[in-house]
Amino acid sequence: MKIDQNISNIINQIAIDAGREIIKIYNKPFTAKMKQDRSPVTKADLVANDLICKKLYELDPKIEIISEEGEKKLSKKTNIFWLVDPLDGTKEFIKKNGEFTVNIALVKNGRPIYGVIYLPTKKEIFYTLNNSSYSSKINAKNQYLQKKKIKIKAIKKLEDRILLLSRSHSRNIELSKKHFRTNKAKFSGSSIKFCLIANGIGNIYPRLGPTMEWDTAAGHAILNAAGGSVKTLERKVLRYGKRGFKNPSFIARS
Ligand SMILES: [Mg+2]
Repeated sequence: MKIDQNISNIINQIAIDAGREIIKIYNKPFTAKMKQDRSPVTKADLVANDLICKKLYELDPKIEIISEEGEKKLSKKTNIFWLVDPLDGTKEFIKKNGEFTVNIALVKNGRPIYGVIYLPTKKEIFYTLNNSSYSSKINAKNQYLQKKKIKIKAIKKLEDRILLLSRSHSRNIELSKKHFRTNKAKFSGSSIKFCLIANGIGNIYPRLGPTMEWDTAAGHAILNAAGGSVKTLERKVLRYGKRGFKNPSFIARS
């Protein structure tokens, strides 16, 4: 699949539509269940997943879809597949702090070649196109407002770099600051951290411990196209289509 402006608009619209369904549920009382891996799931995760998978299939039935809430195996050996996290930050969704996202990525030959992240509460979208990254607000008519190309901000002084830490997983804040020799840290939920680095607002996002490929692929694509990187602790570029779609620890940076 060649992703031109037209296809990009279609994929982005799928994420926006999923976000709209998520908000409908967010604004009413809802309950959460625990999955086998002890992470929470809500009706919003499942409704968004159904919508995204159906529309991606309509776009190209030949490309398989791996999703947090759906299929977790490729049926055949393929070098191209979608990675979907219909609602990243379910914990933030349940806490009602607004920091959750819709994530869709296309992986080809182990690399995320397209990524879109949509923030339903802010109606803000981040996506890649032709090796650049963009952010935009989306209005009620699905028009793109204040669209702009985004770039990382390189910081020379180590201590001026801004560390980004997960809201739900940061116990060792002081240790992290010391390790990266900076005094500045910001907290953010879900894949928004990748967008903040891509947008020049943060510089380092260390994620120690396991994540799944659908948690990172879209953010990775966006950060790459904005000039940043996502590497393992062995300084190898994070690749996709690994066994069980599991990621090792990684560091995303500007
Ligand atoms: Mg999720």
